[in-house]
Amino acid sequence: MSAPPHSLNERMLINGVFCDSASGGRIDVVNPATGDVVGTVPRAIGEDVQFAVDAAASARVSWAHTPPRERGHALYKISEDIEAALEEIARLLASETGNAIRTQSRPEVRSAIDLFRYYAGLGGEIKGQTLPINRDMLSWTWKEPLGIVAAVIPWNAPIALAVAKIAPALLTGNVVVLKPAEDAPLAVLRLAEICNRFLPKGVLNVITGYGSEAGAALASHRNIDKITFTGSTEVGKLILRDSSSRIVPVSLELGGKSPSIVFPDADTDWAADGVVTATRVTRQSQACVAGSRVFVHESIFKSFTKKLASRLSAFKVGDPLDEETDIGSVINVKQFRRINGFIRETQAIPGVQVLAGGLPENHDDITSGFFMQPTLFTDIPLDARVAREEVFGPVICAIPWKTEEEVVRMANDTEYGLAGFLWAGNPLNALRLSREIEAGWLQINQAFAQFPGQPFGGFKQSGIGREFSLEGMIESYTRTKSVTMSMQVT
Ligand code: NAP
Repeated sequence: MSAPPHSLNERMLINGVFCDSASGGRIDVVNPATGDVVGTVPRAIGEDVQFAVDAAASARVSWAHTPPRERGHALYKISEDIEAALEEIARLLASETGNAIRTQSRPEVRSAIDLFRYYAGLGGEIKGQTLPINRDMLSWTWKEPLGIVAAVIPWNAPIALAVAKIAPALLTGNVVVLKPAEDAPLAVLRLAEICNRFLPKGVLNVITGYGSEAGAALASHRNIDKITFTGSTEVGKLILRDSSSRIVPVSLELGGKSPSIVFPDADTDWAADGVVTATRVTRQSQACVAGSRVFVHESIFKSFTKKLASRLSAFKVGDPLDEETDIGSVINVKQFRRINGFIRETQAIPGVQVLAGGLPENHDDITSGFFMQPTLFTDIPLDARVAREEVFGPVICAIPWKTEEEVVRMANDTEYGLAGFLWAGNPLNALRLSREIEAGWLQINQAFAQFPGQPFGGFKQSGIGREFSLEGMIESYTRTKSVTMSMQVT
């Protein structure tokens, strides 16, 4: 294994100062590929959340009054310093998440730079409307910031997801208290250090700690004006329920179980490569959009699944910091056991075929290095747990279909609705079907990651609200005030 960065004793950012928690407690951050402690971070408790919210409250008015162009300029300066630190941040990310540096961590930091730059130029778009009521009356709207935004993010793409919240919230004049996941707070703290160079104190605060402790205290704080959460549907529901007593607006980016539909006339080499990308196996399929339900037309099912299996088996799995590695380590032992539970249970179903992967060696007694070759199952009953629940790991189900009506029904037979992928020789066929699939983001003959500017978010239990876009920024981080004025002077 290549050497990880030296172990870091980090502090969290409150009111422009890097500090320890009030209790003095700390949390180890472990490299899942090696079991080495790569750093420690403060374990924030309710008192720290209070300090962070107070700091944000003190900064709120002056930041809201800062001209949007100046706020955008600060975002651009931040993007420049992230670019200068790209390699260091990417190594940190790879070390704490287990995500391979070449295929995941470096591209993730690049996407964060792009996102800051996208929002940096949008200051002039925070605009209202004038309304034609009558000639004697002027009526218009203003878009105002909401105030203090509580942002909570998971560990699978911490830098990209932090920026997806910080950049639009700050540009629109809000102040932020962000809590990263306990498993992956280090790169986010490095990001906070860069942001702090260009932002007034209190505008961005980053607290580290456990979800049930710091996360819950933040999301339920009575002075929070907006909650933006990315994570599991289960915790999203808790937050939504709790926020209802205070009528606080909530944006939720939650789980998924996305379909990937292969038509009989698809270019099967192109589609097999695309399906692999859509499953996000190079991030151990720890991706909300992962197209893990692959519906293949029955006429090409056998040949296509064989092609898919050979591609999945060819990936190099191992040390995330090695440039040769395609797929790194699953995040932690809990997730590793959970994923293996799905595999074990599915393998035991009579008739199920395992075309690639399967249970990794030493799956029972492993304590680090949660490496998994992606698994491909066929002949699975549609009501099997693996075909219905989000695995959040490299486990794919291939399912045959006969008619378009049938595949639409199967694709939509899920509580989720985040993304979907369609692979067809005649794109008009895919286009026709795309109207029927219930998902917030569909791609035809491609499987890219989100582009800045493209509204991203889920239908059904995959979430509420949109990110990565001007539309999402205005919806999620501003409120509309109407003003009417008489033009008759009496
Ligand atoms: P999670 O358990 O819901 O945790 C997400 C974040 O919430 C973490 O920071 C966690 O802190 C915190 N948290 C946990 N309990 C909390 C509570 N009671 N109150 C407030 N905060 C709390 O999700 P995860 O396992 O980290 O992430 C995987 C999930 O995220 C998957 O379902 C995936 O689909 C979803 N996801 C969605 C998107 C999207 O854009 N739709 C993107 C990425 C991931 P700790 O880590 O300290 O527990």
